[in-house]
Amino acid sequence: MQFGLVHISTGDLLRAEVSAGTDIGKRAKEFMNSGSLVPDEIVIAMVAARLSREDAKEHGWLLDGFPRSFAQAQSLDKLNVRPDIILLLDVPDEILIDRCVGRRLDPVTGKIYHIKNYPPESDEIKARLVTRPDDTEEKVKARLLIYKQNSEAIISAYSDVMVKIDANRPKEVVFEETQTLLSQIQLKRMIKTDKASPVQDKWRGIPTRLNNIPHSRDIRAYFYEDVLQATIRSIKDGNTRLRVDINIPELNPEMDVYRIGTLMELVRVLALSFADDGKRVKVCVQGSMGEGALAGMPLQLAGTRKILEYMDWGDDETLGTFVKLGAIGGKEVDEEDDMFILVAPQNAVGNCIIDDLQAMTTAAGKRPVVLINPRLKDLPASSGIMQTMGREQRLEYALTFDNCYVFRLLYYLGTQYPIMGALRMSYPYRYELYKRVNEENGKEKYVLLATYSERPTPEQIDDAFSGKSRDQSKKPSGIWGFLSSVFS
Ligand code: AMP
Repeated sequence: MQFGLVHISTGDLLRAEVSAGTDIGKRAKEFMNSGSLVPDEIVIAMVAARLSREDAKEHGWLLDGFPRSFAQAQSLDKLNVRPDIILLLDVPDEILIDRCVGRRLDPVTGKIYHIKNYPPESDEIKARLVTRPDDTEEKVKARLLIYKQNSEAIISAYSDVMVKIDANRPKEVVFEETQTLLSQIQLKRMIKTDKASPVQDKWRGIPTRLNNIPHSRDIRAYFYEDVLQATIRSIKDGNTRLRVDINIPELNPEMDVYRIGTLMELVRVLALSFADDGKRVKVCVQGSMGEGALAGMPLQLAGTRKILEYMDWGDDETLGTFVKLGAIGGKEVDEEDDMFILVAPQNAVGNCIIDDLQAMTTAAGKRPVVLINPRLKDLPASSGIMQTMGREQRLEYALTFDNCYVFRLLYYLGTQYPIMGALRMSYPYRYELYKRVNEENGKEKYVLLATYSERPTPEQIDDAFSGKSRDQSKKPSGIWGFLSSVFS
């Protein structure tokens, strides 16, 4: 349930065929009632049909009671179906016999009870419980014998994915162990496959050598593509207020190698790609916010408008037709614009960009507005006094933009070396927390530690890295510094 898998129980499927009186049911009934296996060809055809259904393909499946023979295992191979994991619930024979002989089924709810271990809640339920015809001691023993004859061949065919669980323990313990194993599988799968997105399928994990600056063209291209795909997916889903937070060292204004060029390249990739798709994109850079040339303008943005103008926008017609340059503000929104990309909108000392932003998004209406690396938090003026006017509304407003992409490197608080890990979120997928690991050959890799539906707090990150759960760790705050934390 928790993992969204489709539960495929061959026993349940067969019982349904029997009670519906189908041909399959008629053929299977005798075998089932005697405790022997239903012939392979019947079961295999049934499982193959069920596995090919859309829900199983999309959500994954839990096969329960299959394969029960070597031929059935081979049939999965032929279908090119390789389970990620096989759980072998190991229980001593006498306990298994007791569990089956005492088993009762509620035909109304489908719930399974045990006369001693898990009695029904009321006399009314008790009165209607039924015993499976193959749950007599004699038949259970026959089933066990067949199991033993077949299990060895199946176990050796799947030794690489087989995990034995001691299931002769309280069910909560077994449940928890199973849950942990499945979570690990789910994490691994998340990296390998990703539902609908073919690009995500090709996602090759976090690139390495992120400490080498300037980044290679490859690394930059990797991030541009990653951001682009997340943005496309989000817009396709109808989102119109998007926010990209990407902080590779080259895009990090808090490091000495702030290279506005990388940010401009990212913006160009996004704009050209949407323009290729026939969209008219307006790229907006905040203009001067007060009197005088640079008054109130964040230093990093000075000159960006000019850089954008001089950049290579492909053929002559693109800039001015499909891509237009503008500032941030309500008046910048023209009727023919299809979407807006806002380059690092930010509050400057003594000036707040939010009003312009708000006017602009109101004018944009249902058209997408993408904020790239916004910095909308308050900045202290030189006197050290925070701008507090309207702070709450501003923060609230910033929250109306949903992150469609987040990438952050993690360091120990107060340092920028070595990289300890990374946090990535690419719409619509979960936040993924990675740990950077040095390998023996001098290489490094990023290992997925945990995923979150919401952006994890520094404390959660701390816990994931130290392998602790929150209760055990009493530390008031995390030890991880986000490279420029933009939690505005
Ligand atoms: P279960 O509910 O899994 O104990 O299955 C009940 C009965 O259905 C078994 O005793 C078999 O007769 C039949 N059955 C279930 N799964 C299979 C299978 N994979 N191959 C052959 N027979 C099966």
